[in-house]
Amino acid sequence: MFRIIALLSFVLLSTVVSAQKSFISNKVIAHRGAWKQQKNPQNTLASFDSAVELGCEGSEFDVWMTADGVLVVNHDPDYMGMPIETTDYETLLTKKHENGEKLATVEEYLANGKKQKTTKMIFEIKPSKISIERSKEVAEKSVLAVKKMKAKKWVDYITFSYEGGLKVIEMDPSANVAYLNGDKTPAELKEVGFFGFDYNLNVLKKNPHWIKEAKDLGLTVNAWTVNEKEDMEWLLKEGADFITTDEPELLLSIVNSEK
Ligand code: MG
Repeated sequence: MFRIIALLSFVLLSTVVSAQKSFISNKVIAHRGAWKQQKNPQNTLASFDSAVELGCEGSEFDVWMTADGVLVVNHDPDYMGMPIETTDYETLLTKKHENGEKLATVEEYLANGKKQKTTKMIFEIKPSKISIERSKEVAEKSVLAVKKMKAKKWVDYITFSYEGGLKVIEMDPSANVAYLNGDKTPAELKEVGFFGFDYNLNVLKKNPHWIKEAKDLGLTVNAWTVNEKEDMEWLLKEGADFITTDEPELLLSIVNSEK
């Protein structure tokens, strides 16, 4: 009897645990985290955590490499007036974000993101301003960091660097990598192993047939940066898989009202 109860408890517990492991599926990607209404600095752990609290499917962040080879999370090529690619990590640490957070390394960002199991981390590999070789190095180090932190399940990659994207695919053929630059057709992306595209909204308005073509090829469709209600509704109608926005609350309200 005890064994049966123990077995039933185990099955029940396993079901609960596995249910908690599922990521949310509502297409909402918070661009640089959720920061606007929350007054968080962009690309901080706080902005990521706010996206999780809102219940976004994903939260996007941007990655650069310091002069001494450390991957850090920031949108602009400069952090507090210091150009990231030509400044050492220790020097960058002398300034903090407005909320008191330090400039996060990718490893710190991934460790924080792994504390939850509902929101994916949309990892943007920024193209180096120094060289294509350096972009490939950032891509390589990004895959190694995700591997080291055992964070693959949480991570989809995006990048403007075609070569950087190919590097990720070469190192991890099963990684989800979407291309941002808007200058490749769905067929071209499919051929080299991309998971999808994440194109500027205006690119998709000019080439709306790319959405259907991508879907027919099994590629995912994402668009940036979509902040107007009518654009969100158009993309939802066209069947976009994800929509990247500075206004996750607005998009969530539209998605939830359509349920
Ligand atoms: Mg970005």
